[in-house]
Amino acid sequence: MPPPSARVLFFRNAEQVLTLVGPAVPRRGKDLADLSLVPRGGVLTGGGKILRVGASHALEGEARRLKAREIDCRGRVVMPGFVDSHTHLVFAGNRVADFELRLLGKSYEEIARAGGGIRSSAQKLARATGKDLVKQARGFLRQFAAHGTTTIEVKSGYGLDPANELKILAAIRELQKTSALEIVPTLMAAHALPAEFRNRPEAYVRLIAKQLIPAVARRRLAEFVDCFCDSGAFSVADCRRLLTAGVQHGLVPRIHAEQLARTGASRLAIELGAASADHLDRVTSGDMRDLAVSHVVATLVPGANFHLGLNSYPPARRLIDAGAIVALASDFNPGTSPTLNMQFVLALACSQMRMTPAEAISAATLNAAYSLRRADRLGSLQPGKQADLIVMEVSDYREIPYYFAWNHCVITVKRGRVIYVEKK
Ligand SMILES: [Zn+2]
Repeated sequence: MPPPSARVLFFRNAEQVLTLVGPAVPRRGKDLADLSLVPRGGVLTGGGKILRVGASHALEGEARRLKAREIDCRGRVVMPGFVDSHTHLVFAGNRVADFELRLLGKSYEEIARAGGGIRSSAQKLARATGKDLVKQARGFLRQFAAHGTTTIEVKSGYGLDPANELKILAAIRELQKTSALEIVPTLMAAHALPAEFRNRPEAYVRLIAKQLIPAVARRRLAEFVDCFCDSGAFSVADCRRLLTAGVQHGLVPRIHAEQLARTGASRLAIELGAASADHLDRVTSGDMRDLAVSHVVATLVPGANFHLGLNSYPPARRLIDAGAIVALASDFNPGTSPTLNMQFVLALACSQMRMTPAEAISAATLNAAYSLRRADRLGSLQPGKQADLIVMEVSDYREIPYYFAWNHCVITVKRGRVIYVEKK
């Protein structure tokens, strides 16, 4: 990530500034809808940080004194950049052929036999060089920035063996150094069981726990460790072993939980003090009650449900009303959620899961930052926090999910530096 900009910027004349300044994070229940909106607002940034937020006219004197460069927001909405806390950014090629086969009615098994599925992603990845991976991911990162995302979590997981997993993590390291976005790396070697370990998942878990996790921790290639805990993937017992090994090496757990079947993975997340339990399509009322009194973030990824053409979505309303910490993410990946547009994720959250626009915005910024252990620095426009903000071409924030599947983002700012401006 490039250094912060020392230059003072004055974002003036916004119709609404969504500051999300408020009581201690994270946001639960009714607090999720509190955006701390400043009408006709402005924001001053300098040294890569937020300096002041308030009524635009009240900041003019200070802006002049600091010789700020003025950016006229012309009645638009200014808000924190999106924090996308669940992506599988680094992969080779794509799975567009699987997509078409699925539309023609082929089952997952038939698609896998025709050379598709997650193992096809692993084969393509094994053939790709680190340079190929970085090149494709860089193109996607430009799109993330253009759609208003300023921080993204990135999981490994298409390697399916230690050498290829390390190749992905090395690519992520390279992207961290060169991208304007903040990239948070997660080791997710337990994504699918490699063919050579068929019927021996515990042997694969042992290999990852004994060899890969210590190597990754030693080289500081990941902050988090994740696993696909589900029917047809890894069991709760295997995931407990693997995530515990991660914890022993300083990696914080995240879990793909209760997506295809209710396995008890969300309870495992609570037991291990995981940062996040993701998907949660099949959580029970008891699971929701337990999540509500925990610090595990319930990260919902409705883009996957949409792309798979499912009629059901995770129970966002019940999770929020119970008091769980709800976040939203894209789950950007080639198989089940090839979207990186968080604005579209907001639209799905509203239309399919009955979240309000304000709740969706808090979930995609402040609560997502909390799940990445960065809420002290990201996710709201609070003086002292990092100057990560976006300007949206709407005059009312509710238009962002209402005019769905557009890109409303016209300016993206990371650490006080303008990294994207819409070309007219
Ligand atoms: Zn995922």
